[in-house]
Amino acid sequence: MVSGVFTVVIVLCGYFYLEHEVFIPRQVYNDVQLIKTCSTDAEYNDMLSKIGFYRNADVFIVELKGNEIVYMDNKYNDFLGSPHTLVEYLEFISTYRKLPYISTITLNDNHHYKLYYYFDIHDYLNKGYMLIILVSGAELFGLLIIWILGSLKSKKVLQPIYTMTKTAKEISIYNLDARLNISEAKYELKDMAYTLNKMLDSLKIDYTKQKRFVSDVSHELRTPISIIHGYASMLQRWGKKDEAILDESIEAIKNEANNMKDLVENLLFLARHDNQTLKYNRENFYIDELLGEVIKETAIIDKKHILEHNITPKLVIYGDRNRIKQAIRIFVDNAIKYTPPSGKIVIKCFKDNENIVISIKDTGIGIGREDLGNIFNRFYRSDKSRTRETGGHGLGLSIAKIIIVGHQGKIKVRSKLEIGSEIIINFPTPVNHSKNKH
Ligand code: ADP
Repeated sequence: MVSGVFTVVIVLCGYFYLEHEVFIPRQVYNDVQLIKTCSTDAEYNDMLSKIGFYRNADVFIVELKGNEIVYMDNKYNDFLGSPHTLVEYLEFISTYRKLPYISTITLNDNHHYKLYYYFDIHDYLNKGYMLIILVSGAELFGLLIIWILGSLKSKKVLQPIYTMTKTAKEISIYNLDARLNISEAKYELKDMAYTLNKMLDSLKIDYTKQKRFVSDVSHELRTPISIIHGYASMLQRWGKKDEAILDESIEAIKNEANNMKDLVENLLFLARHDNQTLKYNRENFYIDELLGEVIKETAIIDKKHILEHNITPKLVIYGDRNRIKQAIRIFVDNAIKYTPPSGKIVIKCFKDNENIVISIKDTGIGIGREDLGNIFNRFYRSDKSRTRETGGHGLGLSIAKIIIVGHQGKIKVRSKLEIGSEIIINFPTPVNHSKNKH
């Protein structure tokens, strides 16, 4: 930028210099036009010598008849004596003057005259050389300035890159807190640093989640393993002959083994989802039939609660029947787990506009405001549910959510502590469902 302005200034100066000093023939020509206004010989001569003096040129006018001079201003007569032919004059002058310029003018006496003017080319050449030297010098000076400013500027521009490279080298899986300095960077570099920082943020979140997941899994497995280990040791010491201890131990070991099996199955489900290898065998099916099965099974295993239902028949859903049943089971099991005995559980299913709505409502312990935003997170369990014997691993709702969302469904939770909870699931109605019904 600076060098550009500098060069433009130099070129403009050069142009004006040329215009004033070197393109004098044009100016002389303009001056000579003034001669036309002179009326006497003396005035002509005076004017011609003035022009010659100011413009550093030999200027004279002649009137010719053929090659013979019939009139000439008398400037060179002193040198040569008169009269002479034009050729003699021109030869004389051209011995030390070059660059002739000839034009025809008509003076006041209405005669046509030839006008000759000769310039001292050496003078103009010197001025030309000077101009070239000046422009080249200016360019060199400009280049020097460009080089100095350029290297200073590039140092300044590259500085944020050096800093970022240094920071990037410090980032590792053990140090995900370092961030690139955005304040130093500009334009695209700033965008890039911002994007990389965002990427590091999400990497850190994912890595932290991963770490917590591994520690949660270890924690969940440690309890059943220690229980199994404890009972096995007890059996080893005293249980072989004591039937009561034997029964208790077998029962406990079986329970914990089941517990571990459930946990491992849930983990496998989540791993498949995370690896994107989870497959749904979709078909059209009647959701009321599926809910009927869940209600029947629940009624068999849970006698402690009042189970009510209100289900619109012949509502079709397109999806993986087994997976959707798994999700509904999770919600119903939670309603059982978190509702004190003799509480009520109501299951409803109806069509609302283009959606099929399933609601599972209980009169249980409810979910606190602070827990509501977290219950779908893996391994999350509210403090209240942790203290309960019936609590699971905290994976049920995250699995149910994956299944519902995987079927383009939506889940809403309404809950009030000590009053109860309602899970509302919305499924889109399948298109052309009657044709595809198996
Ligand atoms: P868990 O195996 O602990 O039940 P879930 O993922 O199914 O795990 O549920 C997560 C947490 O959400 C539970 O620990 C409990 O605190 C809360 N929760 C889920 N359903 C209900 C409900 N119907 N009533 C009260 N709390 C519930």
